[in-house]
Amino acid sequence: MTTVLQFDELTLECVSRAGDETWIKIQPPGLAIDVGRGTPRLQGVRDIFLTHGHLDHALGVAYLLSLRRGPEKESVRIHCPVEILGALEDLLVAAGMLDGEVYRYQLAGLEPGDRVEVGVGLAMEAFASDHGVPSIGYHLIRHRRRLLRELQGQTTEEIASRRRTGEPVDESYEERWFSCTGDTSRHVFELAPEIFESRVLMIECTFLDPAQYDRAERFKHIHLQDLVAVRERFKNEALVLNHLSRRHQVSALRQAVDQHLIPMTPEVFLIGEQNRKS
Ligand SMILES: [Zn+2]
Repeated sequence: MTTVLQFDELTLECVSRAGDETWIKIQPPGLAIDVGRGTPRLQGVRDIFLTHGHLDHALGVAYLLSLRRGPEKESVRIHCPVEILGALEDLLVAAGMLDGEVYRYQLAGLEPGDRVEVGVGLAMEAFASDHGVPSIGYHLIRHRRRLLRELQGQTTEEIASRRRTGEPVDESYEERWFSCTGDTSRHVFELAPEIFESRVLMIECTFLDPAQYDRAERFKHIHLQDLVAVRERFKNEALVLNHLSRRHQVSALRQAVDQHLIPMTPEVFLIGEQNRKS
């Protein structure tokens, strides 16, 4: 089931189940983080950002290239952890041979801290995560302007007269509009503590059952207990949990979230749950 969430001007469209497939479409600017096994819903995106190479997240790149025909064929940019660049290129070349096409794309490997401009005033920035294969998460950074602190509280007329003198009245700043951890263990909390400050944070929560804590550790995923342990650190406006194991019903996650996270955390949305926002 596709979940669509709207946070002011930001729209997230997402399908995510562990081992099945995970993809997220983000508008603006109209890009994808992970592509699942391949979905027409991502046809036409200009930028693809892969969190890691597990096939339930990355296999769909070949399928999406196969859908590109005509003028859009040349414009797709694919970004991935730098360590998997060679393997991904091999996969795409082989897929093109099977398809009888020479796919055109730009492929770039990213390391934590690398940034890519993705639209006017928008950039994606990679951050470190911790999974069984090379992995990164992504921040969507938005450049905004705000009134200078010393002018706050002044009237419109006072600000306008200052502007007429040529003096600055506002300043630019960056905000982490959205962050997505991808698959990761709880060590992302130390590797990228800034995720606690993003306006909207999508974080994986694969396991619920206390008996599966060891499994979460072994396969480097987050267990609900890990979120409960840091629940007072979430300063976000909203949390979105994805990548639930197929062993669990989404309704069981909702029950556990309502019992153990809320009201210590911001509002929590679950991928796979009927949309709670109208
Ligand atoms: Zn994975």
